[in-house]
Amino acid sequence: MTTTTSCHLWPHYRTRNGFGQCRYRGKIEYVHRVAYQRFHGRPPQRAVLQSCRNRLCCNPHHLVDGDRHSVIKYARGTDLPQHKLTEEQVRTIRRSDQPRWRLAKRFGVSVSCVSNVVLRKSWKHL
Ligand SMILES: [Zn+2]
Repeated sequence: MTTTTSCHLWPHYRTRNGFGQCRYRGKIEYVHRVAYQRFHGRPPQRAVLQSCRNRLCCNPHHLVDGDRHSVIKYARGTDLPQHKLTEEQVRTIRRSDQPRWRLAKRFGVSVSCVSNVVLRKSWKHL
């Protein structure tokens, strides 16, 4: 992970899940994917992740190809988007007596995301 330079934050359009988006070669693309492609001269093999965990960052030095093991660490992180869940799912999680890992798997979010819902660190308004 290279941190020699600071983040380059995308100032324009961002998606609902917080990633920068732009038009590139006639297609709507994530900015960090375009930045990766231009820097490395080839499209990313899989998902491109920001090692700085800043979703708007398009500094190519912060971008890692998702087939490195970091993708696993990233997927277990706490910063998966909360709004992947619907309000109904949040209520279901809070009512459920299933283990958190099972709920996480069921709803496609991280365990810490489920924990935050259960502990009311997220979705406080519900
Ligand atoms: Zn960055």
